[in-house]
Amino acid sequence: MTTDLAPGPLDDADPLARHRDLFVSDASVTAYLDGNSLGRPLTASVDRVATFMTEQWGGRLIRGWDDGWLELGQQIGDDLGRVALGAAAGQTTIGDSTTVLLYKLVRAAVDARPGRTELVIDRDNFPTDRYVLEGIAAERGLTLRWIASGEPTPEALAAVLSPATAVVVLSAVSYRSGFLADVPALTALAHEAGALILWDLCHSAGVVPTELDGWGVDLAVGCTYKYLNGGPGSPAFAYVATRNQRMRQPIQGWLGSATPFEMGQGYEPAEGIRAFTSGTPPIVGMLAMRDMIALIEEVGIDAVRAKSVALTEYAVAIVDELLPSAVLASPRDQRRRGSHVTIDHDGFEAIMPRLWQRGVIPDFRRPNGIRLGLSPLSTSFAEVAAGVTAIAELVKE
Ligand SMILES: *Cc1c(COP(=O)(O)O)cnc(C)c1O
Repeated sequence: MTTDLAPGPLDDADPLARHRDLFVSDASVTAYLDGNSLGRPLTASVDRVATFMTEQWGGRLIRGWDDGWLELGQQIGDDLGRVALGAAAGQTTIGDSTTVLLYKLVRAAVDARPGRTELVIDRDNFPTDRYVLEGIAAERGLTLRWIASGEPTPEALAAVLSPATAVVVLSAVSYRSGFLADVPALTALAHEAGALILWDLCHSAGVVPTELDGWGVDLAVGCTYKYLNGGPGSPAFAYVATRNQRMRQPIQGWLGSATPFEMGQGYEPAEGIRAFTSGTPPIVGMLAMRDMIALIEEVGIDAVRAKSVALTEYAVAIVDELLPSAVLASPRDQRRRGSHVTIDHDGFEAIMPRLWQRGVIPDFRRPNGIRLGLSPLSTSFAEVAAGVTAIAELVKE
């Protein structure tokens, strides 16, 4: 490795390096490069969950619902909105899985654009997003208009928008390539066509600064187990801009009703963001993300982005040097790149088991891509170097 690619000086100069010690570590892991699929736990979360089990659940029992559990999803939603989404209070809630929230919000948005018959999504979007839209199109007799393939640029979106477009669904950061969409420009384009837009923020929340209110976004959803370190299957978030909160979502449950504890006849939606809740909130699953949201607030989302860019720039440089036979599938331009770097090589699938055995943990995406997911608060430059070095060695064998 050439000396200017040695990771030591970069880690020494990294103002966020000290935060790595706040995460649970495991001696068997040499390089964790999958923080975009499942963020590592903070030790503070281990304590928080244990204390919750003994004191709140064990001690307060059913009384806990009156101690704030019922409002917890909205409270954490407000924190997340302030810290990472550019969303004022009262517009974000934590609840179901991303898949279920997508369904609820897209269905609500379709009904808010009566007479319009088309949904727009891109072929490279995450499978669940495509499948949910296919299901809604079938259910409601709508036509899916696909952004052919490649990146959702303003030109590509403009080509499929029309006066028939009801709702556009795009991901801010593409799960495979890491392409970072121009969210404000694409939002403005959808609005010019009279359509509503929903942004999937799964691969950007907590790592790419976002201004949902400022950019005029209508709706958004996102995972909390990726860069928000909520743990496997932690519930997702939904953002519904205040002006859209009278939309009706299809899963009319008691906890989204105006008066849940009257147990009355006939559903009347609650005022505000609570109308997008359906059933009993998954409280235990919401605990760990609180620590990561607090840490991002302490550090500042712009500092998180600065390290994210430095890590992905480093990954691209070291791949160019050590793995010239791999093809970079992510944008070279840092302004159009999220926090993961995907490289393609036909030899990658075969080396995955041996990589994982060595404690080098990226993930594999078909047909031939390795994704290096770089979570700025828990990933070091040394891990990136160790990971790419191991990949290069195994490919050469
Ligand atoms: C990870 C991811 C999902 C996952 O949805 P779940 O309901 O949590 O399984 C959805 N969309 C995108 C863009 C993702 O990256």
